[in-house]
Amino acid sequence: DEPPARAAVPQAGQDGLVLLRRVGVVDPAGLDDYRAAGGYLALRRAFALGPAAVIREVLDAGLVGRGGAAFPTGRKWDATARQPDHPHYLVCNADESEPGTFKDRVIMEGDPFSVIEAMTVAAYATGCRRGYLYLRGEYPRALRLLTNAVERARERNLLGTDILGSGFDFDVEIRRGGGAYICGEETAIFNSIEGYRGEPRSKPPFPVEKGLFGKPTVVNNVETLVNVLPILTGGAAAYAAVGTGGSTGTKLFCLSGTVRRPGIYELPFGATLRELLALAGGVPEGRKLRAVLLGGAAGSFVRPDELDVPLTFEGTRAAGAGLGSGVVLALDDSVDLTGVLLRIAAFFRDESCGQCVPCRVGTVRQEEALHRLARGSGPADVTLLRDVGRAMRDASICGLGQTAWNAVESAIDRLGVFADGEKGRAS
Ligand code: NAD
Ligand code: SF4
Repeated sequence: DEPPARAAVPQAGQDGLVLLRRVGVVDPAGLDDYRAAGGYLALRRAFALGPAAVIREVLDAGLVGRGGAAFPTGRKWDATARQPDHPHYLVCNADESEPGTFKDRVIMEGDPFSVIEAMTVAAYATGCRRGYLYLRGEYPRALRLLTNAVERARERNLLGTDILGSGFDFDVEIRRGGGAYICGEETAIFNSIEGYRGEPRSKPPFPVEKGLFGKPTVVNNVETLVNVLPILTGGAAAYAAVGTGGSTGTKLFCLSGTVRRPGIYELPFGATLRELLALAGGVPEGRKLRAVLLGGAAGSFVRPDELDVPLTFEGTRAAGAGLGSGVVLALDDSVDLTGVLLRIAAFFRDESCGQCVPCRVGTVRQEEALHRLARGSGPADVTLLRDVGRAMRDASICGLGQTAWNAVESAIDRLGVFADGEKGRAS
């Protein structure tokens, strides 16, 4: 078994924990502990409200997806619930494989019953009788605790037939990924569950219409799902009162790199990047911050003079970056930026599923050009990177190819890497 994720919970200075309130507090293997700490109140409220009113609450709360793309969860649920084709399926995307992302792991290891309860609520609202939890293969501790949670829930009639006498039937099957990054892409998950190669399908049709086994399917990230519990227990209005108009509630941020206290931090949307870095203790003494990679390998770098950006979907978008799945990778002035870019390029080259040419070839060409630039080649290779990046962004089938150039582009344009022959080493 692997050591527990560094949860950093609760951190001094973090008030108002919502998603992490039970992590590190309750026994993650104990259903009674979970119930004593408010567990299964949300499901009871869902049964009292009925499916349509549950979806209404989620819409009114303004919840958007936390996997990275920020799609409105209520719209997704509503679209699935309305599909006349049956059965409907629910997939919890727990494949968490974006480099620097470990928030879902902390929830699954520290509060696994919340994931199962939230899946049950989502299934009830959208008319699913079967749910799949697609778990990152490298999370053995989460697998053990989630398997236990499913078994304990079945024993107490919190999964199975006629759950709590509601007339609603639902069960969860856990499937493990095999280590491929692309299997976190929702349609690649469908192929993987169905027994095919984990390759993305073209969208549209979107999963809400034609997903797993060709049937209407709701796919939600772990963090997205567990947000539904406080929405139901506290009400949509109270939930939406936290955060900003475009980004309601709290967000889990994954702090890593050269900060003094790396870990998961939960903050209301709208806190600034500067405030978040301060909570994590900033960079080590004697060092200066060089850049922050926001949103992971598919994200963008921001500069030290941009730290007042509000951490919201709309705020980071307006600043030309993006929150993605909540990765905040701090890099101080000891870090070799070219080395970081080469690592990112190698990652995408490795993880491209090879199905479409722009990504299969583009990720190789990108890495080659970066290697040449690292050895001191000239601006022609930067031009080539831009051409290759544009082709990947415009013509790739899925998000991997479409975002594989983001970080490199932002390093060139915002950080000035490779300008005037600079090889990327921080000065
Ligand atoms: P996307 O924008 O294509 O879709 C987001 C979600 O909304 C999907 O579930 C999609 O089916 C749904 N959707 C979009 N338009 C719809 C419509 N018109 N009707 C119904 N449903 C609709 O994004 P994506 O490719 O699913 O995800 C990309 C994101 O994933 C990136 O932001 C990236 O940061 C993130 N990501 C996260 C991880 C992780 O480990 N958490 C890993 C890799 C990538
Ligand atoms: Fe595969 Fe890349 Fe094409 Fe996505 S963009 S389908 S990962 S080759």
